[in-house]
Amino acid sequence: MSEGTRVLVLNAGSSSVKYQLIDMLDGTRLASGLVERIGESGGRLVHTPRSGLKRESLQVFPGHDAALKAVAEELAADGVGLDSPELAAIGHRVVHGGKRFTVPTLITDEVLTEIRRLIPVAPLHNPANITGIEVARDLRPDLPQVAVFDTAFHASMPEYAARYAIDRAVADEHRVRRYGFHGTSHQYVSRATAALLGKDPAEVNVIVLHLGNGASASAVSGGVCVDTSMGLTPLEGLVMGTRSGDVDAGVVFHLHRVGGMSIDEIDDLLNRRSGLLGLCGDNDMREIMRRAEEGDADARLAFDTYIHRLRKYIGGYYAVLGRVDAIAFTAGVGENAAPVRAAATAGLAELGIAVDAELNSIRSGEARVISPEYARVTVAVVPTDEELEIAQQTFALVHSAV
Ligand code: AMP
Repeated sequence: MSEGTRVLVLNAGSSSVKYQLIDMLDGTRLASGLVERIGESGGRLVHTPRSGLKRESLQVFPGHDAALKAVAEELAADGVGLDSPELAAIGHRVVHGGKRFTVPTLITDEVLTEIRRLIPVAPLHNPANITGIEVARDLRPDLPQVAVFDTAFHASMPEYAARYAIDRAVADEHRVRRYGFHGTSHQYVSRATAALLGKDPAEVNVIVLHLGNGASASAVSGGVCVDTSMGLTPLEGLVMGTRSGDVDAGVVFHLHRVGGMSIDEIDDLLNRRSGLLGLCGDNDMREIMRRAEEGDADARLAFDTYIHRLRKYIGGYYAVLGRVDAIAFTAGVGENAAPVRAAATAGLAELGIAVDAELNSIRSGEARVISPEYARVTVAVVPTDEELEIAQQTFALVHSAV
């Protein structure tokens, strides 16, 4: 086993790769970066070394192999190359683990074949994740590579929360069930929330609201996920930047039969042209709040629809959990948009939920409580750190495999 203490975390998307090199002794970020527009013109690599002085390189990256080779060169230039004996493992974010992968998994040929078998349920994500794994294995075939699945944390959901109420045989044949996503974030944030309360995760019930461009809510009881808002795909649940979240499945039939739209067109509509963007033409919450503030009716409707759905999930998960100790806001919107936090929790004093306006307005990168001391439910802002969680799970697996 490697004596190294560093983990490289790779998050390969269809046309991008995000990476972080983390020293597990103290969690130091030795480097991080992003390659964008892989396979397109106008490729860009932005690399941030430990010093914080960003380096940008504009070039064409024909594929993920070219992108990862460029990343390897940047790391080598910083003296933290992939050939370093300090590198203990590479941790890969893999979006869909299906029913089989419920824990971080050492990648073998057989595991890779299984991840490939899941492509039909994650056609947008798993192919890119697989490419990232293949290229990284070519670069360092001797190094342990670990897959950390976005669905894994939700595998603990009881069957009645994971099932859609459709014919069981059909559902089972096509692996149609609620898997949930953003699991690494929900796991990290629920644990960090318990730490903020000075409690063991096993002692607390938390509603986690991961509000980024994609958004999801989860109900976590004693450290175990018991429900989450995303389903078979990341389309279900909250209103998101460009995704509709919950719609009556009948909308799809209607748009096909009456609207004459093809299935691919409806897929594109619901995933990429809906949500906040579909309602008001913008998907950035900053812009929407600014427009709403200036009296723009479309932006106001988008904001109100977003908040209404969020409140329904808060109420729903309150009932699922029975007792709620904390509500944690995280990701781009959750960590930064005080008006969203205020509106999502307004008027819920009967449920023990309140937000202190002054605490809510403080800007900080730290985990912090924003509810008044008297409130029964702690409302908190808890920055997510999916990369650190992936690195920790990867490192723990490599070290347990002695
Ligand atoms: P994420 O997917 O977690 O990176 O979140 C990205 C989203 O966070 C953006 O699309 C914005 O809508 C939102 N966001 C980022 N910064 C702010 C901010 N200061 N205020 C409101 N929303 C923000």
